[in-house]
Amino acid sequence: MKMNRREFIRISSMGLGGFALANPMMSWLADSAANSKLGTGFLSSRTPTYCEVCFWKCAGWVHKKEDGTIWKITGNENDPHCNGRLCPRGTGGVGMYYDEDRLKTPLIRRTKGGEQVFEKVSWDEALTFIAERMKAIAAEHGSETVLPFSRTDPVVNF
Ligand code: SF4
Repeated sequence: MKMNRREFIRISSMGLGGFALANPMMSWLADSAANSKLGTGFLSSRTPTYCEVCFWKCAGWVHKKEDGTIWKITGNENDPHCNGRLCPRGTGGVGMYYDEDRLKTPLIRRTKGGEQVFEKVSWDEALTFIAERMKAIAAEHGSETVLPFSRTDPVVNF
């Protein structure tokens, strides 16, 4: 089978990636190489963050390349929940961030021309909409029927 240069590099890097995953020393070397900026356009910074996918809200680091794109997300070793490790959903945050369907603005469902549509709105409009609905529920059924709830740290909150 004849292979062009691009295919050769892709297949070679897949093999190396698999080996790096299976071999902690290779992973460490790959990270060290990235951190010392060997190779162009690679890692330039890391920024603290936390994962919003589930209630644990594990703390992590976003590692960015020099061009500002995200390279990977890793756990923060000082977080007692994750001890420096994120689950696959957390590390998969890179894909979520770049997902073209990711919501970046509030949407309000409205009926237009007999059809239900989601309209992009500002945060002010969305929060005003929610506040008005909550006030109306409280006025009609009593304030005890409204319970704001934010699920965060289960150890602290429960
Ligand atoms: S990394 Fe996994 S366990 Fe931690 S908050 Fe994200 S989804 Fe939850």
